[in-house]
Amino acid sequence: DLLGGAARDLTKTWKGQNIQEYLSELLDKLEQHSDIEVLLNAEVVGASGFVGNFETQVAVGNETKTVEHGIVMVATGGKAADTDEYLYGKNPRVTRWHEIEHDPEKLKNAEIIVFIQCVGSRDQNRPYCSRICCTASILQAISIKENNPDTNVFILYRDIRTYGEKECLYKKAREMGVVFVRYSLDNKPKVTEIENGLEVVVFDPILQKNLKIKADYVNLATAIEPVENAAISEFYKIPLNAENFFMEAHAKLRPVEFATDGIFLCGLAHYP
Ligand code: SF4
Repeated sequence: DLLGGAARDLTKTWKGQNIQEYLSELLDKLEQHSDIEVLLNAEVVGASGFVGNFETQVAVGNETKTVEHGIVMVATGGKAADTDEYLYGKNPRVTRWHEIEHDPEKLKNAEIIVFIQCVGSRDQNRPYCSRICCTASILQAISIKENNPDTNVFILYRDIRTYGEKECLYKKAREMGVVFVRYSLDNKPKVTEIENGLEVVVFDPILQKNLKIKADYVNLATAIEPVENAAISEFYKIPLNAENFFMEAHAKLRPVEFATDGIFLCGLAHYP
């Protein structure tokens, strides 16, 4: 296993900072730090104690180690949900999240790329907003336009939720010619295979007509879901919310700690 989590998949932050450079500096510091021991492929199998005096049993290979520590930082992460919607897994032209960026050759020759937002988010199964996908798709769209302004990029969305200052990215994308088309949960876009591509049909509420888009690639912003957190929650007696993300002590006043002293949380373990 490797350190780095979801950051390994990312190239830059929304402000343009290089994530891989930062990550590799951080990993170097970690390796050189005499007080840090990294246990890879490890699993927490038991825990007891209180702030300043925790004991955690960690299974590493065939061995179980007991680690004594003063605090706990919960950083179990999250992941992009799998899906079988929109031909994902059936047609290689349908990708999800950062998969499309991993093959720059594809992007170079593409004439039309369609992003579909809210795939498996904000529906009956996962009522929550995954919060980072609108920004991620818009960043990808901007980068595609910067590299090749002639590529037509469509983003099919239900609501654009580029939180806070990230709204500037939404404005920038529109100025660069990215086309945003709104769809509703009861009338989702349809993706079918055609010769040398994909056909995406989406109802445009402004034109009051179906748009037919002949796309080279379709990229899906699938929901962010938690990893299996039940065991950690039980060992340290820390609560999960209805979606199985960890729940902070107080959303506004104590957003990165639990009610139990000495236990903190960070990253996607919390909520995207
Ligand atoms: S961030 Fe955007 S795409 Fe993601 S769930 Fe929220 S509204 Fe949907």
